Amino acid sequence: MRTVHSIAELRTQVAAWRRAGERVALVPTMGNLHRGHLHLVERARERAPRTVASIFVNPAQFGPNEDYAGYPRTLDDDARQLAAAGLDLLFAPSVAEMYPRPLEQMTQVTVPELSGILCGASRPIHFRGVATVVGKLFNMAQPDVALFGEKDWQQLVIIRRLAADLDFPIEIVGVPTVREADGLALSSRNGYLTTEERAIAPALYATLVASAERLRAGEPDYARLATEAKARLAAAGFRPDYVEIRRAHDLQIPTAADTDLRILAAAWLGRARLIDNLAV
Ligand code: AMP
Repeated sequence: MRTVHSIAELRTQVAAWRRAGERVALVPTMGNLHRGHLHLVERARERAPRTVASIFVNPAQFGPNEDYAGYPRTLDDDARQLAAAGLDLLFAPSVAEMYPRPLEQMTQVTVPELSGILCGASRPIHFRGVATVVGKLFNMAQPDVALFGEKDWQQLVIIRRLAADLDFPIEIVGVPTVREADGLALSSRNGYLTTEERAIAPALYATLVASAERLRAGEPDYARLATEAKARLAAAGFRPDYVEIRRAHDLQIPTAADTDLRILAAAWLGRARLIDNLAV
């Protein structure tokens, strides 16, 4: 595996592969890798002979009071894991390489309708930052296919919309969430949990499973179900942000006729804001 830090080196390598007729898959990450990220790399390797991952803790997607400064940065260990997973190229740019001018002076990408709801309601600039950095990475790496985790379902829906609206000729692939044995979705932010909080954390997944079962059994009152799920999370020790039942493909509020539903939740546990979601 080769590691590069500049856009020019990334472009040169990918261009050489493309000239040789090789497909390229991209896995964007913020590093501090766990089995969920490595699973994306495995799926990427099934889809293209050449795989690129990026590690970039993107300041544009963190609000002023969020965990940008304290976000775990473990580049050497991440690089070892990616090499062992069979990755070809790791792109690990600096902030100056990605954003050579102050962020507020740079072009940014907004995906309307999808970015202000759910996680976007409590993280108002988050998805603009995500869409901007992913758009930039798409232009830099020019992959044939890019893979994203279903754990961040809203992000996946937004990136599909971004690729469609801006005509990126890139296949967007969603990869199912990798979980701990007790159901907790793997996340870099799980590292913020104390031992006590870690014991509580699986209640988020358990609550979504129980709610999804009731929906499948025909529960018609989505609002009541969501209120009860939030109460269950609060009783377990979370500070719930939201629990919502939405149309899976566009995150809009479902009508009785809609069948492609997803239940999504975000809740604080100590200093960690955990998110999860399930198909219904
Ligand atoms: P992050 O480093 O948190 O920005 O995540 C990078 C990519 O890994 C995103 O596409 C995430 O959705 C995905 N990802 C994170 N956690 C998991 C997980 N537990 N299972 C599958 N994909 C994940």
